[in-house]
Amino acid sequence: MNQFQYVRAAKPKAAIEALAKDPAAMFIAGGTNMIDLMKRGVMAPEKLVDINKLPLRKIGKERKSISIGALALNSAVAEDKLVQEKLPLLAQALNAGASAQLRNMATVGGNLMQRTRCPYFYDTAMPCNKREPGTGCGALEGHNRMHAIFGHSEKCIATNPSDMSVALAALEATVRVSGPKGERTIRFDDFHRLPGNNPEVDTNLQRGELILSVEVPDNPYHKHLHYLKIRERASYAFALVSVAAALDLDGNTIKSARLAMGGVAHKPWRLFEAEKMLAGKPATEATFRQAVEAAFQGAKAFEHNAFKLKMGPNVVVQALKTAAGIA
Ligand code: SF4
Repeated sequence: MNQFQYVRAAKPKAAIEALAKDPAAMFIAGGTNMIDLMKRGVMAPEKLVDINKLPLRKIGKERKSISIGALALNSAVAEDKLVQEKLPLLAQALNAGASAQLRNMATVGGNLMQRTRCPYFYDTAMPCNKREPGTGCGALEGHNRMHAIFGHSEKCIATNPSDMSVALAALEATVRVSGPKGERTIRFDDFHRLPGNNPEVDTNLQRGELILSVEVPDNPYHKHLHYLKIRERASYAFALVSVAAALDLDGNTIKSARLAMGGVAHKPWRLFEAEKMLAGKPATEATFRQAVEAAFQGAKAFEHNAFKLKMGPNVVVQALKTAAGIA
């Protein structure tokens, strides 16, 4: 590991200023991904600004939303009574991620910022446009079983590894950030990027911006929901395919639906088209299948991940059936 300086910030303003002063500095909180990346030589920040002391751990009810501090631990959020009652989809997604030990260290902000688990990204002997722009994409013609089927580019076909983000996308959260130019709020769908020609850039955060909180608006999706994750083994594995499915039902009629997927794109992937098709329809397996298959029309697989074209729709239909209480 390279040598680096370490400083602790006590206030958000001090943390933002520390990054503004030093272009080679980065924030660190739980460090569950960053330390791995540094040990492997994938990232080499010259200075780490530890933000763990900042007062950003609160989870609470606001006027029309639930606010979750950026430094709230993944385990604390999943176990929070308000989250379990009002945002059970988020609690399910958090509990599907990583291991209990990691959830006790990892923060909400860090979860949003975690990097892809594409093996070529972590292997500094291999080409990777995300790690080193212009070197090529090892996965494109290589081992691409875990990779994207939506929104990829010829520069990068990686997926976003977060389970939490899939639920937050479905719940249309916003991300509150503060930076050298002041505070702003980013729609969740705009927070993570598709790779395009710049796969090295994962998010639309500006340099020096600090995540303060995630705001989840009040919503009717706390009764009929399911987070379903398919992975290589029962725990501590990233999603091959996952889905956050939520329905607002009036009897057997779907008033509205929310669907977001993980393991299929460079960002949490909303199935907007399927959501639209489901509104006003009866909650039946046939309706679910029709809507989901339409949403998969634009999917494109590679040599080793064509199974996702079949698995993906099946997983979404199954999650919708569970959400609707259909056996
Ligand atoms: Fe790198 Fe993206 Fe290609 Fe993986 S898919 S090797 S992260 S450029």
